[in-house]
Amino acid sequence: MSSDADLRQRLAAELTRREDAGTRRRLPRPASGLVDFSSNDYLGLSRHPAVRQAVQAAAAEPAGSTGSRLLTGNSAAAEALETRLAQFHRAEAALLFNSGYTANLGFFSAVPRRGDTILYDEASHASVKEGIRASFATAWSFRHHDLADLERKLSRASGAVFVAVEALYSMDGDEAPLVELAAFCRTKDLYLVVDEAHSNGIYGPSGEGLVAALGLENEIFARILTFGKALGSQGAAVAGPAVLRDYLLNFSRPFIYTTALPPLTIAALTAAYELLPALGPEREKLFGLSDYLKATLNAVPGLRVPATSHVIHPVFFADNPGPEKVRQVAAAARAAGFDVRPIVAPTVAVGTERLRLIVHSYNTKGEIDGLARVLGQAGTDIPLSDQ
Ligand code: PMP
Repeated sequence: MSSDADLRQRLAAELTRREDAGTRRRLPRPASGLVDFSSNDYLGLSRHPAVRQAVQAAAAEPAGSTGSRLLTGNSAAAEALETRLAQFHRAEAALLFNSGYTANLGFFSAVPRRGDTILYDEASHASVKEGIRASFATAWSFRHHDLADLERKLSRASGAVFVAVEALYSMDGDEAPLVELAAFCRTKDLYLVVDEAHSNGIYGPSGEGLVAALGLENEIFARILTFGKALGSQGAAVAGPAVLRDYLLNFSRPFIYTTALPPLTIAALTAAYELLPALGPEREKLFGLSDYLKATLNAVPGLRVPATSHVIHPVFFADNPGPEKVRQVAAAARAAGFDVRPIVAPTVAVGTERLRLIVHSYNTKGEIDGLARVLGQAGTDIPLSDQ
């Protein structure tokens, strides 16, 4: 037995280890009045008047859902939203979860079972990995986008085989080769599961996501749609066969044992989904600015943005200077009025620390020019203190 003091000491020692390694996390100071190059609010829907009005109207409703969906937390509005989601994303059915995190956890912990195999892209989100940990299936990662490695790993697989990828990767902004993956999974009878956290709302003529934009909705077993990003709110849904929806609401603990989303969130999401089809010009502007940012920053000596990134752009420094300098450059950008965040280990691998810039439909070319000037300046001004 150890005492309370022992445990506190153990926790503090872990934090010190992180501090020494330069990987300790801290809550950032909330940014206000800065030009947004960091939030996931790609289309500005969190602040859209129609969405806020819907939230205001929902203020007449109870503040909470009062229970889980299977008890008192169900509502006609939540069911109507699920019906709309299924129709909009061209899936048989959809089931709401409280977050993308719990949707991934809820799918992977419940659907693959002992004797099955999960093959997941090594760059998969923490929530997919958490779901895999909670599952009894065997799991192996395969190299990022690497179908040859996927095929190698497949030779060891047994049972039902699930392949987990993201449509648009959250750290590098690169798209999964979904057409090739879908064809591969079709020929080998694998179940493809696509996390559309970052692509939902911004890909496709109406923002249906990358799967539907590519016409692959019938080839993918399940899609994880999240609402904390382009939809400007929070929550998520798993979209897929009707039998999957029914199975999840019977067996997925992160769905069953939690209080349902409150009415105001359902109202915000319903309003956001009503707006999405008409936001084609915003989506066009978003991708135009995304290309502009990439070209502009790549013209700055010492900065590198990969050709493959869209909307989410990792910015690497030519001399790979380590986390401290990346933090300092981000701080310099914030001091100059731009909300820029460093992404360091353990969120990304040591040696791949970077800035992560996110473009929004409400950014301007002038803002991107200003940011490029500041990053170029900071990149050369700040000494390499961390080598
Ligand atoms: N999947 C991916 C790829 C993500 O980037 C995120 C959010 N960072 C999630 C799932 C989790 O979504 P949520 O924030 O709604 O929990």
